[in-house]
Amino acid sequence: MKKMSASSSISSPEELQSRTCKCEFLARYYTATTLENGRRRFYRCRRVGSNFCGYWNWIDDKLPRHVSTMIHNQKVELDSIRKGKNHLKKIVEDMGGIADSYLKEMTADEMF
Ligand SMILES: [Zn+2]
Repeated sequence: MKKMSASSSISSPEELQSRTCKCEFLARYYTATTLENGRRRFYRCRRVGSNFCGYWNWIDDKLPRHVSTMIHNQKVELDSIRKGKNHLKKIVEDMGGIADSYLKEMTADEMF
């Protein structure tokens, strides 16, 4: 028997196990991208429209408004920075390249 703890990580393997929706398909794992639910994780039925069985299961608690707004704004900013980076990368490539170590450092941000 597994010991439950109030502080157990939301990303622990058992939280992310596959789940089955009402039509007995494997529910799909998603990450919300809306302003209200930025990066909030959930499972839902993989079918769409009238075939959707209604299965929807949030993994994370609802975010406070200021946090979701912050996450959303950071994503917008990150997308813009990424675009700029790719643009610069192309210019650098056209110029004949740059040391790999520098580019690797920059891509650490892409884990977000
Ligand atoms: Zn379903």
